[in-house]
Amino acid sequence: MRQAVLDGEAAHYDARIIALLRETSTEATLFITGLWAKTYPSQARSFASDPLFELANHSWDHRAFRSPCYGLAAVTTDSARRRQISRTVAYLRELTGVTTRHFRFPGGCHSSSDVSLVYDEAHIPVQWDVVSGDPFQTDASVIVDNVLQGTRGGSIIVMHMNGRPNAPKTYRALRTIIPELKSRGYRFVTLSTLLGS
Ligand SMILES: [Zn+2]
Repeated sequence: MRQAVLDGEAAHYDARIIALLRETSTEATLFITGLWAKTYPSQARSFASDPLFELANHSWDHRAFRSPCYGLAAVTTDSARRRQISRTVAYLRELTGVTTRHFRFPGGCHSSSDVSLVYDEAHIPVQWDVVSGDPFQTDASVIVDNVLQGTRGGSIIVMHMNGRPNAPKTYRALRTIIPELKSRGYRFVTLSTLLGS
């Protein structure tokens, strides 16, 4: 949840997660910040060109739209909030050719006026209904239980691909979650497919 602090690739991107999604042909929407894409441009291009994945907008540098928000630094004006979205759109379009259409608030923190602001910036603000609880969770079975118990048809599951130390067990949990949900008849789709947007 804290991509604003960039201190090394291993700490902020668990490549095993992407490999697992590809091996299992599991579609996903990947919310990335502009700063993340600037740090990992080849990965961002690779995601964008893979039909399994949909790139989405997670602000420029993961600043909260409202505070307090899990200790995140915050932006305090609407123009700064708009720039968090528009700067990322411009950067990702230039880098990958993709124009993002969905936005997730850093930390999920927002006010009702922020929802309108996001629509004004031509994005759909998307929250989630299944909290995997993967940030800083060191027991994969807790994440697995949260997701398996919470998922219904149409659910949006939020998970993090940062890897250690922020999301150390996400990969391990997904190795159970993906085959288990598929065996229960679920199909993983991108947000565009789910929302028809
Ligand atoms: Zn985040």
